[in-house]
Amino acid sequence: MTDAATAKAQAAHAGLEAPRTIVVIGGGQAAGWVVKTLRKEGFDGRLVMIADEVHLPYERPPLSKAVLSGDADIDTVRLVKPEDFDALNVEAWQPECASSIDREQCIVRTQSGREVQYDRLVIATGGAARRLPDAMVKTSHVTYLRTLDEAVALGERLRASQRVLVVGGGWIGLEVAATARKLGVDACVVEGAPRLCARSLPPMVSNFLLELHRANGVDVRLNASLVKLEDHPHDASRVRATFADGSTLDADFAVAGIGLTPHTALAEAAGVKVDDGIVVDHFGATDDPRIFACGDVANHPSAWLKRRVRLESWANAQNQAISTAKALLGTFEPYADIPWFWSDQYDVNLQILGDIPGHAQLAVRGDLPGKRATLFYLEDSAIRGVIAINTPRELKLSRKWMNQGRTIDLATLTDASTALA
Ligand code: NAP
Repeated sequence: MTDAATAKAQAAHAGLEAPRTIVVIGGGQAAGWVVKTLRKEGFDGRLVMIADEVHLPYERPPLSKAVLSGDADIDTVRLVKPEDFDALNVEAWQPECASSIDREQCIVRTQSGREVQYDRLVIATGGAARRLPDAMVKTSHVTYLRTLDEAVALGERLRASQRVLVVGGGWIGLEVAATARKLGVDACVVEGAPRLCARSLPPMVSNFLLELHRANGVDVRLNASLVKLEDHPHDASRVRATFADGSTLDADFAVAGIGLTPHTALAEAAGVKVDDGIVVDHFGATDDPRIFACGDVANHPSAWLKRRVRLESWANAQNQAISTAKALLGTFEPYADIPWFWSDQYDVNLQILGDIPGHAQLAVRGDLPGKRATLFYLEDSAIRGVIAINTPRELKLSRKWMNQGRTIDLATLTDASTALA
């Protein structure tokens, strides 16, 4: 982050009138944090939130865990209690779908024919679960998991089933499989790649997760090239999967977790720059000074990664939104968090912080097969990234050191007999 970037953002802001109406498109965690922060920072103008779900903003991490198992519901996942949301004095247009952005007149129009003029606009539209190709799917027994309603419906179906087929060995797939096992439901995970979570994890940790799931009774199939999903030939209430090698798998139903497609169409149609997400600066501003974006849909420069990135994580949705809301009001605090992500599966809490470069020096502290280990990835004796398996304290400490730019020697990190301090 350079002073020049801040100066540029300040200059763009100075050229505009103070906002009286701010419109937020989206109703997820990022949108929720934008409206919360705007009010906290003293914005007392008109605030309109346009969202296609009926629910007020909620948090997604429990959806693939406690909501599926039936241990959590809307009241436990809310970002803001309804009475506190009322106090924010937000005009929530829900369920409503923004259909166009007229940048000339600064107007957002909706599918139902409403329109609102904005002084500033925030696009926090997130994304949708990527769908399996229509040509592959010849059954209605395939579900996806992105929204609260989908999670509730999937949970009900899972709890009434004996066997689920999970397509995709990414985070959704693995968390759904772990929840299924917790409920006593048989689970089979089919992943097209040769290892699990291949985009976000090094092979050592992919293998750890593979062993973890197999030890918990999940039938995990890698390099599994799915070609067809159809009704079971002898029982249309069930599903049959066919793979490229001719093998088949039967289940009560299938759930696909094969990635996220960011909702960029509105921005694109309006001519806002899009390149794997809506392109924003360190403050959430797009190439139109009146339009901002944040959360899963935004592609931002990451100071830590030293490249642009679109992050699909809880922490990013919250903290990028806070920084964006402040910038809308003229307070420029660059969003520069070290990327952080976590997943809970069975008795394992796995956290990933920072960058995991292939060429980095690896220091392993603890016992990975014993499910308690920290993997440090070092460059020039400084930690670039950490994967913590049931070691949240070490991850917290690492974050501090990484933010301080502190160097540390390998022997200290790997000596598990001495606590890190
Ligand atoms: P994901 O983590 O990107 O994983 C999708 C997986 O499915 C990838 O391994 C992908 O392989 C594989 N795949 C794609 N097409 C396939 C096919 N036809 N057959 C078999 N495998 C296929 O995405 P996700 O699990 O769907 O999760 C969606 C979003 O929710 C992500 O942003 C994720 O981070 C987020 N999420 C977060 C958490 C958490 O914070 N703990 C939990 C759940 C979900 P390729 O990479 O080779 O395409």
